[in-house]
Amino acid sequence: MSGTFKKISCEPPCGFEVKSHDEKEVIELARQHAKKAHNKDVPEKDIRSKMQSV
Ligand SMILES: [Zn+2]
Repeated sequence: MSGTFKKISCEPPCGFEVKSHDEKEVIELARQHAKKAHNKDVPEKDIRSKMQSV
């Protein structure tokens, strides 16, 4: 199977990681995490810039 996953990792020591085929889902989950876990409102473009293809 081929397929590109989009991945975002939170900075250490958090280590939270989101991985999905769906870029939008990754962004959404990452934003939710940042808000819940770090009380931060992270702009979508910041998340995109950290997103990796794996
Ligand atoms: Zn985190």
